[in-house]
Amino acid sequence: MLYFLIAVLIFILLGLAFLRLGQRRQQQTGLPIGEVIYSDTGAWQKVEAPLISRRYGLIGKPDYLVQVTENRQSMPIPVEVKSRKRPAVLYANHALQLATYCLLIEEQFKRTPPYGLLHYADATLKIEFTQQLRDQVIEIAEAIRRAQGSEEVSRSHEDPGRCRRCGYLHACGKEALH
Ligand code: SF4
Repeated sequence: MLYFLIAVLIFILLGLAFLRLGQRRQQQTGLPIGEVIYSDTGAWQKVEAPLISRRYGLIGKPDYLVQVTENRQSMPIPVEVKSRKRPAVLYANHALQLATYCLLIEEQFKRTPPYGLLHYADATLKIEFTQQLRDQVIEIAEAIRRAQGSEEVSRSHEDPGRCRRCGYLHACGKEALH
């Protein structure tokens, strides 16, 4: 019995250590920690047409919109569906994609969604639309616009796995795989 209790205690301590590690990594990236929530998928409405922001030069289509009431105001919240399980630490690209939809909704509906939902195979995360995420999306959109006007665009070859799956590899050259 004593061994069993010790094993349970070690298990709990290890779990807490991993949780703390994950939270610390999340804090280092500056990304919000997604809160797991229950979300009624029946209320989600499929988005048919892309949302457009001429102001930021952005276009995108969230998988779903769901109407929620915040501070007595009804507003659409974006939902992005991922087929994989929830990652231990929130991926920056998932958070930025959702934040882009929040910005597009703000432009289109003149209401700022306070958060969006990332729906993984095993959980739905509520991701706050923070000022930091908003700034990052605008910064990236501007960088893309600047790059579109330039003749030579510097590429990052730091992720060979991504390059291997990329549709532009043929034009990027073999150096992408190094
Ligand atoms: S192969 Fe694709 S992902 Fe890799 S650097 Fe080139 S464009 Fe980027």
